[in-house]
Amino acid sequence: MNFSEYPIESLMYITNRPEIVFTHGKGSWLYDNEGKRYLDFIQGWAVNSLGHCNDGMIEAMDKQSRLLINPSPAFYNEPMAKLAGLLTANSCFDKVFFANSGAEANEGAIKLARKWGKKYRDGAFEIITFDHSFHGRTIATMSASGKPGWDTIYAPQVPGFPKADLNDIASVEKLISAKTVAVMLEPIQGEGGVIPATREFMQQLRALTQKHGILLIADEVQTGCGRAGTLFAYELSGIEPDIMTLGKGIGGGVPLAALLAKKEVSVFEAGDQGGTYNGNPVMTAAGYSVISQLLAPGFLEGVRARGEYLREKLLELSAERGFEGERGEGLLRALMLGKDIGPAIVDKARDMQPDGLLLNAARPNLLRFMPALNVTTEEIDQMMAMLRTILDSL
Ligand SMILES: *Cc1c(COP(=O)(O)O)cnc(C)c1O
Repeated sequence: MNFSEYPIESLMYITNRPEIVFTHGKGSWLYDNEGKRYLDFIQGWAVNSLGHCNDGMIEAMDKQSRLLINPSPAFYNEPMAKLAGLLTANSCFDKVFFANSGAEANEGAIKLARKWGKKYRDGAFEIITFDHSFHGRTIATMSASGKPGWDTIYAPQVPGFPKADLNDIASVEKLISAKTVAVMLEPIQGEGGVIPATREFMQQLRALTQKHGILLIADEVQTGCGRAGTLFAYELSGIEPDIMTLGKGIGGGVPLAALLAKKEVSVFEAGDQGGTYNGNPVMTAAGYSVISQLLAPGFLEGVRARGEYLREKLLELSAERGFEGERGEGLLRALMLGKDIGPAIVDKARDMQPDGLLLNAARPNLLRFMPALNVTTEEIDQMMAMLRTILDSL
């Protein structure tokens, strides 16, 4: 079937998409309707933790969908309980609420913090967030985000999200008042361009929030679930947040997200929080398969090793081409180009023949790499070779 035969005009316009329809994928490779294959270093936007069409996930969803697809969120089901147990056993948190998207998990975190503020902080409701942060596309999470322009596009915003500067503790302290209930941040700003909060800053934030008796919320929608080389990125800084959100990688490609909290912060009462699909058995069965595979002996060590390998290769390329180095953790990395050639590289990489390469320029002056966590070193080599070819042609 030709591209022109797809009724794409029926889709609401939201962004410019290339004239490609993807039909299938396996591991690090995606295939389009004309049989062209693409080496995928985007993976659904850091979502497909185990690459395309992972066998374990297929089996888990197939099995679960034959048993039970939806008993209603008003009842327990087995995969929902098993996945919650796996998450609490392998994190510092005690309680889990499942949602469908990162934004929805963050909405839950905001509500939980505000509820806690009502109960314990005299109605405090403000949550300090950061410039260039990204927390989702609902009205409240857009208001929490520090993405330039987002304060005006659907104005008025939801109030109560003053913005501080990442890695500047004084900028946070300055904003704390009797109205403050929490500080929320991404341990590594993903959409902002892979900007890590330093270990020192995370520790300062933990100390500061503790001193003022307010909550620390980690938005690990992008950094969680092995992406940063540890199961959760907060582990890298040796601190424990009070609340964490997960999305993207937890579902390995299906809509699943989670809100996790320490038990003393888990203050929802009956009816405060919900959602038709929360804890859906097919999605949580997929998530259970993903997290189990990440916890298999040696898997996360492998992510760290391949992250280090990618880092070395990017540094070599940077030195060779006069770029400005690289940054990131695990398999969430960025190559700093020093000039705004990111979008041109992304287009050329995708259109390359015979095989294409899928990359992302989170900002015009950098490339972001978010391959499958089980990407091979051979695939990293292949990507680097393709990237060199593109740079030669620019
Ligand atoms: C992608 C992302 C979100 C939003 O997740 P959705 O599933 O698109 O709603 C929130 N926070 C961070 C850090 C993200 O990277």
